[in-house]
Amino acid sequence: MDKLEVLKKIFGYDSFREGQELLIDSILRGRDVLGIMPTGAGKSICYQLPALLLPGITLVISPLISLMKDQVQALKQVGVAAAYINSSLTEGQIAKALEYGAMGRYKIIYVAPERLETYAFLQFAGRVELSMVTVDEAHCISQWGQDFRPSYLKIVEFVRRLPRRPVLSAFTATATGAVKEDIACVLGLADPQVLVTGFDRKNLYFAVETPGKKDEYLLRYVKEHEGESGIVYCATRKNVEAVYELLSSRGVPVTRYHAGLENEERQANQEDFIYDRKPVMVATNAFGMGIDKSDIRYVLHYNMPQSMENYYQEAGRAGRDGESSECVLLYSPQDVIINRFLLQNKESGGGMSPEDLAAMGERDERRLQVMVNYCMTRNCLREYILRYFGEYGSGACGSCGNCRQEFEETDATEEAKAVASCVLEMRQRYGVNVVAGTLAGEDTAKLREYGVSQYDAYGRLKDRSLGGVKEVIAQMLMEGFLAQTQDRYALLKATARTKELTEGDARLILKRPKRVGAKGQETDSGKAGGRRKSDILNSRGLELFYMLRELRTQIAREEGVPPYMIFSDRTLVDMCVKQPFDRRELLEVTGVGENKYGRYGQRFLEKIREFTGETKEKTYFGELGEAAAGTEGASGRAGRDTRKRSGPKAEFSLTAEQAAGFPYRESCLLTELAVALSDLRDPDRMKKVTGADIFRYLTAEGYVSEKRVDGIWKKRISEKGTEAGLRMGLRVSAKGTEYEDVYYDERAQRMIVAHFIQENRY
Ligand code: ADP
Ligand code: ZN
Repeated sequence: MDKLEVLKKIFGYDSFREGQELLIDSILRGRDVLGIMPTGAGKSICYQLPALLLPGITLVISPLISLMKDQVQALKQVGVAAAYINSSLTEGQIAKALEYGAMGRYKIIYVAPERLETYAFLQFAGRVELSMVTVDEAHCISQWGQDFRPSYLKIVEFVRRLPRRPVLSAFTATATGAVKEDIACVLGLADPQVLVTGFDRKNLYFAVETPGKKDEYLLRYVKEHEGESGIVYCATRKNVEAVYELLSSRGVPVTRYHAGLENEERQANQEDFIYDRKPVMVATNAFGMGIDKSDIRYVLHYNMPQSMENYYQEAGRAGRDGESSECVLLYSPQDVIINRFLLQNKESGGGMSPEDLAAMGERDERRLQVMVNYCMTRNCLREYILRYFGEYGSGACGSCGNCRQEFEETDATEEAKAVASCVLEMRQRYGVNVVAGTLAGEDTAKLREYGVSQYDAYGRLKDRSLGGVKEVIAQMLMEGFLAQTQDRYALLKATARTKELTEGDARLILKRPKRVGAKGQETDSGKAGGRRKSDILNSRGLELFYMLRELRTQIAREEGVPPYMIFSDRTLVDMCVKQPFDRRELLEVTGVGENKYGRYGQRFLEKIREFTGETKEKTYFGELGEAAAGTEGASGRAGRDTRKRSGPKAEFSLTAEQAAGFPYRESCLLTELAVALSDLRDPDRMKKVTGADIFRYLTAEGYVSEKRVDGIWKKRISEKGTEAGLRMGLRVSAKGTEYEDVYYDERAQRMIVAHFIQENRY
């Protein structure tokens, strides 16, 4: 069999995803590889597929018992002989596994790194033909990373001792530059083929909500997602208990997990969740490591987490199967206080010097601030996340909570000037609370102590609320008009850009979510709740989908495996679309390989035949091409578009009169351009234009290009672009680092506006 046949016959897929083929080819040619791909990108196939084509055994080193078990179970489902060897087995079982291994019964063997040192295992490895050693979660080898595991260092020695050096392949979802270097270097990869695909998880929808009553929001959300699997993360055990009580009292099939429960109960609850007996999990961040449940449709944060690293990891547990899934963070200012308290009381691990402790405290505070800014920003959330991790998006994704929310803009330039002069007048010695309190003319004991009433700025914004002034400051920080010191005092400082406000003609625009009566309410809740994987299915299609899901649950119980391992939701949706009646047709469904066909095919075919009376029906919206495409890759988008609209909206374009109203500025950023353009349209009839749309046009016309340097997208302006009025300029990221971005001067703005008048292409 060649690799495409293996992909289809064993795994049931028609084509490779981004990056997979390159890595597989390299391995098959005997070259080491390092794959850095986000969760759900499909790393497993990159080593499992070549493992089947290579002559000998592939050894996969994996840090967690639960992960190994999951992978081996999944391989058995597709008919691949695999085993794991770890401390969950008895000595007798281990001996048996090694014996079978030596007899060539397994193509793939998973082991924990500790195992590599044992005599029995070394003996075994010396005797058999090892074609490849794969290091999963390879970032564990780096001391720079968060999850360093000393035992990973043993891999190097192990490989060195082998009679013949196998191909080495290493995979991880999280690697910064330093960690990447470390992996290649420490593991001793030889001229490896390195592949870095972006951090972006396209099938995840991000949103921040600030509901007055979190419990009500949560209940409504979970009810709206009945039948789907989700995690609700809380900051404390107490919150977990309260939320768990709330949900279970309303009949939600829910379970819970936190460090205060007995080990046994934790284990049992985790299984209830994985096997879909209780598809909703309420947990602290103690839950999730090693959970490979791929059909988690939402991750809701009841409290804001302590850092973006935590947030992205936890939220990232949604949608590993590539289906549209949601990550919604419920923010309240109270969360900041809870987290500060938790951080200040966390165990430091002992033995740290006061300096180290202080440094750690500062780092924690900075990270917390990044999270707060994430909750406050009105700009694209996906963009915010990607930038934080050092990647460059294209301004606005068009599909996160903020990109989809309509905002009202108010000009707060005067307020911003007052803030700037207050900060300077106070000689940059105070933080947000004192500055805001001073401007709002507050009279508290603390402010009196600082003697703030002596400043000219005192009470200058007294007709604004304290919260209103803070909002202005937050926006200034976000746009780099002010900065904060990176210590626990977080003092407000002027920046290079402050002058643009005080002396230049920069403006500060505040954006607030538009509230439009009852209708707006509806979209508000519907926004997070409305987008589902099975969106391409019409009501008949959904009916079939739920029937097939029931069958899947039933089979899963019989077999004692989690339902997602039988078939993914995506496979079920594809079955509903294609309605296969026989073997050949069923094998065309994505995710159905020979082995799964043999095991479950008849039962699914029967259900489908019964449901349709053996006449194919139209079970989806739109064209078949779209629906089929919707089952791999484009699923999120296809689904989203059909659902969101009440009547179809036209692609964005402008009439000449509308375009005449464009607020030209000396210079602006892509997002600002997109927002200003979108504001000119008739929102009931026309879609918004996003920064990404505009950027695509500019790229197509050769004004700009994007190039990936070390896994980071860098924008470049061509000569043509420079002539048209594009220029690179510095911005300050949420993290406080400076980066380059494209600015558009008035000439460029005019050209872009003209583009949208002339043609209705976008
Ligand atoms: P990762 O290890 O990168 O988190 P997985 O290997 O678990 O991702 O793959 C995520 C999902 O994508 C799995 O359900 C897998 O079967 C599916 N998948 C992987 N490669 C393909 C492909 N080429 N076509 C369709 N689905 C794929
Ligand atoms: Zn966005």
